[in-house]
Amino acid sequence: MALQIYNSLTRRKEAFVPTHEGEVRIYVCGPTVYNDAHLGHGKTYVNFDVMVRYFRYLGYKVLYVQNITDVGHILDTGEDRILAGARRERMQPMQLAETYTRRYFRDMDRLNVTRPDISPRASGHIPEMIELIKVLLEKGFAYEVNGSVYFDVSAWKEYGKLSGRRLEEAQAGTRVEVMEEKRDPADFALWKRAEPEHIMRWNSPWGEGFPGWHIECSVMSTKYLGQPFDIHGGGVENKFPHHECEVAQAEAAWNKPFARYWVHNGMLMIRGEEMHKSLGNFITLEAAFQRWDPLVIRFFVLLSHYRGPLDVTDEALDAAGAGLNRLWGTVRAIRRELGVAPEGPASAEVQALVAETRAAFERSMDDDFNTPGAIAALFDMTREVNRLLNSGMPLTKGSLTLLDELYSRLLGDVLGVLPENLEAEVGSELTGELIRLLIDTRAELRKAKQYALADQIRERLAELGVQLQDGPQGTIWTLS
Ligand SMILES: [Zn+2]
Repeated sequence: MALQIYNSLTRRKEAFVPTHEGEVRIYVCGPTVYNDAHLGHGKTYVNFDVMVRYFRYLGYKVLYVQNITDVGHILDTGEDRILAGARRERMQPMQLAETYTRRYFRDMDRLNVTRPDISPRASGHIPEMIELIKVLLEKGFAYEVNGSVYFDVSAWKEYGKLSGRRLEEAQAGTRVEVMEEKRDPADFALWKRAEPEHIMRWNSPWGEGFPGWHIECSVMSTKYLGQPFDIHGGGVENKFPHHECEVAQAEAAWNKPFARYWVHNGMLMIRGEEMHKSLGNFITLEAAFQRWDPLVIRFFVLLSHYRGPLDVTDEALDAAGAGLNRLWGTVRAIRRELGVAPEGPASAEVQALVAETRAAFERSMDDDFNTPGAIAALFDMTREVNRLLNSGMPLTKGSLTLLDELYSRLLGDVLGVLPENLEAEVGSELTGELIRLLIDTRAELRKAKQYALADQIRERLAELGVQLQDGPQGTIWTLS
């Protein structure tokens, strides 16, 4: 079965058919770089990263664009987020944006999120935004008031088709001062007049000002991906008004579809509550990394479906860590055995196990990127592999290589939770050789009937998390 994606626009799962054969063009709304990235960003960008990795695994040529919002994102208070941050940190606005852009990529690198192919900055695309606004004015979808330009929601009849929200809902909560300028409270700013104290300002046909937030995404997605492009992604909290406004701008201006599949990532919750600074439960990625390995956080995210909410608790993260360690333990054991395994092709049993696992993994991923199902397939295989490793019948080099390749591909390339230097992480080859030395010493002691000493070695190793298993072919060790 071909890949199915839940499309928020049509509200159902659809077979994925790319616009250009063999290619996937995807745009995901990026961060506003005025503050450190938090766990919610982690969930969003890990999930989209795995989609991109899976498309590449399937053989698609992917072009992934994710913007950096460094201007124009207005807070509910009417304040520009970048300017508010710059005041808070006593920096120039662009200095602040650069600082947090670097910190964002640092955090994403640690989560093993592949960098987008293009990371366009809003501030670098002001001329293109002005051009789009001019088209909207010419076609009667926008109007100018005192140097600001607003989108006329009543002129574009399809407004609301993505979010299903009615205009009246959009009007609730709009600030009174702004309402006076707009013809309708649901209209939204394309361009804002810069007040004298506003530092970030650009010349435009309507005087000095700065762009509204939504316009940058309509411009930067279509500039690099064309229109229509395949997939537009983002957090579900941005579906309305941000994504609704993106659709309105691009489709009203060019009279053709904007993005064909809309993919929305579910919310992150902290112990059942939304994460908010005001609730005191706000967790930056940097703080989370102090406590959990970034790959454990990544794995934890992937244990839930991307569309659902993800509830963060210490227990759930610890459990994710234990699960990931089990998978790593088996990959380590395979790699260790590879060094001493007898030559020979892969056994029929291992070939069948690998084929079944790959099929189950792909079946889950093809079903709207069901990562929990894909991970379950890997756990099923791991139980079988552990059974084979402990059966006392040594696996051939061919079998071990086939298993190692499958873990590298699925757990590594697609899910991104297999460190390249897995052996080095436990403490290098030397550790393995020292454990082997103790195992041999224990065997010698047993031969000499020094059972108490032999047992002591086994117990002391167990205390260090190294489990010994005796079989007819000798003793193997695993990490618990
Ligand atoms: Zn956006």
